Amino acid sequence: MNMPVHSAIIQASVSAEGLLLSADEPLLALQRETGGDLGERLAIPQLAAVARLAIRLGIIVSRPVVAASDQCDIDMWVRARPDGKAVHLSVIDWQERPIPLLRNNSSLLEADLAAVSDGWSWQVDTQLRFQMVLEGGDPDGVLPLQPPVPGNPFSSYFQLQPDEDGDMAILRGFTQRRAFRNQLACLTADPAKRFHLSGFPLFDLTGQLLGYRGKAFALDLAVPVPEIAAPAVLDPLAFGKRLDRSLRQPLGRIIANADTISAQLEGPLRPDYAGYAQDIASAGRHLMALVDDLADLQAIDRPDFTVVSEAIDLADVGRRAAGLLSVKALDRQISIMAPATEQHVPANGEFRRVLQILVNLIGNAIRYGPEGSVVRVETEQEDGQSRIFVTDQGPGIATEDRERIFEKFERLGRDDQGGSGLGLYISRRLARAMGGDIRIEGEAGQGACFILRLPLDQAVEADISV
Ligand code: ADP
Repeated sequence: MNMPVHSAIIQASVSAEGLLLSADEPLLALQRETGGDLGERLAIPQLAAVARLAIRLGIIVSRPVVAASDQCDIDMWVRARPDGKAVHLSVIDWQERPIPLLRNNSSLLEADLAAVSDGWSWQVDTQLRFQMVLEGGDPDGVLPLQPPVPGNPFSSYFQLQPDEDGDMAILRGFTQRRAFRNQLACLTADPAKRFHLSGFPLFDLTGQLLGYRGKAFALDLAVPVPEIAAPAVLDPLAFGKRLDRSLRQPLGRIIANADTISAQLEGPLRPDYAGYAQDIASAGRHLMALVDDLADLQAIDRPDFTVVSEAIDLADVGRRAAGLLSVKALDRQISIMAPATEQHVPANGEFRRVLQILVNLIGNAIRYGPEGSVVRVETEQEDGQSRIFVTDQGPGIATEDRERIFEKFERLGRDDQGGSGLGLYISRRLARAMGGDIRIEGEAGQGACFILRLPLDQAVEADISV
């Protein structure tokens, strides 16, 4: 099928108040079709949200956007650059997709197709916690004996399973904020109960994601279906392999290609194209980190999750984590003060997991600390415990948020593309699995201080003290 594509870059500018100041033709036409005009509020919610974000954060924001016109859906990649009191929008890759037949006479969104399928309904918020469940009107719509409890996590109720191609429709849907269909899942409490899940994202008028709503259709177990005869619960290793195939590999290719383009290895390029390639690579890296987090989440949320207990040197792990993040720190002119090389602090824990926690804590300190500031990584040993402190000079964390930020998907209202809200949840779970913990100190407004505590390894301590 030939899809209309605008190869030129479409430019527009939006005032700090959200008024469309200028726009190239296809965008202006869409604004008029949506009921707006030049000089009026930008009437395409997702575009308005990107513009607002760029103004608020004062940085370039770039992301994929889907807009709906009367005749088609439009996929585009938008880059918003704050420019004084306005924001400059550049749209590349404007691709018009015809509306599926079912929509011809109605304004149903693509996502609504999922909603008309049979089964019972569920709705989750942005933290993927159930908000409501509803019986459907037909026999397939009967709720399971133990229906989801509002407030409980989606991931602890359903165990997700890949399809025969190793694909996870729901992961693709969530990462792209798109509708998904035919995601296999079983109940964690009763793996014999299997479902096809479909769902679509809910946005508010400003384009902000509110959550997902969808259907769960019970699969008829009386009819043998080969692919659903697979083991009910996927072990984490197999889950990781499937993720590799369905998401990591294509993402890896996208990142590698975008890096090649932005480094201009294949020849010189217009500077703005090189910039877009950089944006694509960084969006790809963000998605890759999210995939890693989701794989970790699946593993650590299992009751049989364990860590290895080995003798480590917390100061050494701190130095390595700081080293791994030195380029990221340099990008923001931040200096990391790592423990001195002669410093050794024995502890007990799994080396790679402790490194993962520290990379996350130091990464956050760099991300949320101001440009040109200092991140300090310090160690301490006391009362049979070893501690490592990561202190930044950012806004800190209000006392009332200090427990909340360890919850799954909690980002304290942030909606930038920088993170998933899973890092601290995973880090604390890992620390606790190693017999330690993470807590926060520091005066609110004076920088955050995260403390990772681990049990002290007596044998190593004796070695070092000799
Ligand atoms: P992510 O950074 O991916 O959003 P995390 O779980 O690592 O997820 O952190 C959760 C939230 O906690 C962040 O979105 C941010 O609002 C807050 N946060 C974490 N570290 C810091 C820090 N060093 N300074 C200020 N806020 C922080």
